[in-house]
Amino acid sequence: MKDNTEFEIDCPACGKKMKKIYMPEQGINIDVCVNGCGGIFFDNRELEKFDENKEDISPLISVFENKKFKKVDETDFRICPLCGQKMVKNYASAKKEVQVDECYSCGGKFLDYGELEKIRAQYETEEERASDVIYELYSQVGIELEDFKRKCAKSKMNSSFLSKLIKIKY
Ligand SMILES: [Zn+2]
Ligand SMILES: [Zn+2]
Repeated sequence: MKDNTEFEIDCPACGKKMKKIYMPEQGINIDVCVNGCGGIFFDNRELEKFDENKEDISPLISVFENKKFKKVDETDFRICPLCGQKMVKNYASAKKEVQVDECYSCGGKFLDYGELEKIRAQYETEEERASDVIYELYSQVGIELEDFKRKCAKSKMNSSFLSKLIKIKY
């Protein structure tokens, strides 16, 4: 795997060199396709520093201002610019509205232009996001979960199990 803290990476959607934009509030650089499609690449776990409305992304907004970006086919599969693995399309949250490309090898995520704003508009807080994940899990495995909870209650595991669930993020 390449280290992208200093080197420019190629945009996985349009192939243009991505530009590093420094985000002072988070203290990190993110890779933005400013001369191509407007996509953004986040390293492992970086996206969660930007997905809430209270988290400042003003440097990004000024980069995007008055710019036209190349249209790309969002259904195309992408190759991770860091490790060359095929990326997997996943919903960014339990709301299943926005699909992002995710690299299972390095944890990097690629968002097409406009997707970050959509993700940020979905939830007010990280707690809301997490509880939606739990609700979604519950609706998928409701019966098994009920059964599991009963077993947990019997073995007095209940509270620690639930507190672990609360910590699950998308
Ligand atoms: Zn691009
Ligand atoms: Zn990767």
